[in-house]
Amino acid sequence: SDSPCCHDREYCRMLIKRGIAVSPGVAIGPAMVFGTESFRIPQQFISANVIDIELARFHAALDATCEEISLNEQLARERLGDQYAAIFSAHLLLARDQQLVSQIEQRIRRQNSPEFAASQVLRQYAKRMRDLGGQYLAERSLDINDLEKRLLRHLLGERREELSNLTAPVLVLANNLTPSETANLDRKFVLGFATEVGGHTSHTAILAGALELPAVVGIGKFLDDVSGCQTIIIDGSHGVVIIEPDTETLAKYRNSEARFRSHERRLQSLRSVPCETKDGVPIKLMGNIEFPAEAEPCRDKGASGIGLYRTEFLYLESNREPTEDDHYKAYCQVLKAFPDQPVVIRTLDLGSDKMPGALRAAYPDSVNPALSIRSIRLSLQHLELFKTQLRAVLRAAVLGDLRIMFPLISTLLEFRQAKMVLSDVVEDLEEQGIPFRRDIMVGMMVEVPAAAIMAEEFAREVDFFSLGTNDLIQYTLAVDRADQAVADLYRSGDPSILGLIRVVVEAGERNNIPVSVCGQMSSDPMFIPLLIGLGLRQISVTPHAIPELKEVIRNLTIERAVAIAERASSLEVARDVENYLWGELKKLCPESMQLD
Ligand code: PEP
Ligand code: MG
Repeated sequence: SDSPCCHDREYCRMLIKRGIAVSPGVAIGPAMVFGTESFRIPQQFISANVIDIELARFHAALDATCEEISLNEQLARERLGDQYAAIFSAHLLLARDQQLVSQIEQRIRRQNSPEFAASQVLRQYAKRMRDLGGQYLAERSLDINDLEKRLLRHLLGERREELSNLTAPVLVLANNLTPSETANLDRKFVLGFATEVGGHTSHTAILAGALELPAVVGIGKFLDDVSGCQTIIIDGSHGVVIIEPDTETLAKYRNSEARFRSHERRLQSLRSVPCETKDGVPIKLMGNIEFPAEAEPCRDKGASGIGLYRTEFLYLESNREPTEDDHYKAYCQVLKAFPDQPVVIRTLDLGSDKMPGALRAAYPDSVNPALSIRSIRLSLQHLELFKTQLRAVLRAAVLGDLRIMFPLISTLLEFRQAKMVLSDVVEDLEEQGIPFRRDIMVGMMVEVPAAAIMAEEFAREVDFFSLGTNDLIQYTLAVDRADQAVADLYRSGDPSILGLIRVVVEAGERNNIPVSVCGQMSSDPMFIPLLIGLGLRQISVTPHAIPELKEVIRNLTIERAVAIAERASSLEVARDVENYLWGELKKLCPESMQLD
């Protein structure tokens, strides 16, 4: 996935990396390599009249670095013995290597800042060593990385700018960002991000959409080829990251950034037209949100309600456990944007990749966190935490059409248990004379294959279903949704998934309960004709996708949708299903497709 540039090797180092496109748009700016540096290299160039000063600053930092390493060497010798001290002796030799030092000096003379010069030269050294192959050299390249970090720490000293404390725009490049780290990104300064790991529907990817940050995940190893402050392009629509673009490429992307904006504006004009098929069948298009602040912009995109509020982000955004009042305020804020429309509160879906620090200690080493204590299982083990949330939901429900949805239900017993806790909370509120709403709708996510298979039985007890295809695909195909190593196997178009969706929709129809889809699959325009053809009339999606999906819906008749779903269901492999759906989408919306 690597395409080096063809021009002058010294001055043009353009590199193109490909990953998974998870949040559209183009971002251009300086790199901040999170995790290795986790601080920003403040500038790439210095003016000619400070070259001597900067050279002196570099040597002072190098001396301080060497002193620090010597100290470590001494300590290691005293406490651990000679063979451990040798590690630091090697670092010291490297730091004093004449050739290396003179290359950094040369770059400073060419007006690179010492931080940038040191980082570039050391990274090139490390890369060359790795490229030679072999375990020994790969380990030596780690020594060089270590030296780089030490040197940068000394060079930056007080001026170190950390991710949590930015003062200028950056593109964040990281091996991985956890959902909490992503939720805490400073939107004022972070223009986009790219990660080595991650899959189509990892929560980090979903958050990128919520924050409207162009993002690419699952690129594979690439951080060693970048250093802080290099210019980067992140093309979140096509899953491309370009390091040190040449002028021609930069111009092309500035242009496509502008075209993306004008396409968005055209779609935005659809905001006030009804969401219905060409033959007049209304389709309820709702939004998925992670933060209460998203509710208002989501309504402005044309959503007719919130089909999924991932409330666990109340836990992931801050270090302390949210109180009943925190929950209550968040729900009221969402209801304020949607006073007359449904707002589905999904109860805490903690666990797996979304385990807050406070709970992590209780579940230290799950063999497989995705199959362990998560979601409703966790809520049922922490009743106080669960009840705090349910109290807030029932109280806020006085103000609007709030509904409750339990995540990851796998058996009927589990659903009944959750409902019992809800009845306890009802009783408590009643006893305490606190105003609340009793006749609240209680539904469940269908995201475990067992629940889909048992949909008929569930449909007699629940008020609604919402298909969580993100997890349903993960558990049906046995493919971790966040693992780029198996990203090619994660297929929404797999016939098994189409089959399960059909089972759930039909059970809903027979028992007269509403069924919606809220997994990422429904945010992809390609799957809209299929889902409507399978009988779905309610779809909850990532807010920025709403205008585009509305356009697809308005170009579609039910008859055509049914024909598309039938043909798709007759195909035997995911690739054929997806190719077919893609072809149909191009026919339906030729104008939008021109962008690609
Ligand atoms: C899903 O699994 O499809 C879903 C919508 O929930 P989440 O992505 O939060 O797991
Ligand atoms: Mg889920």
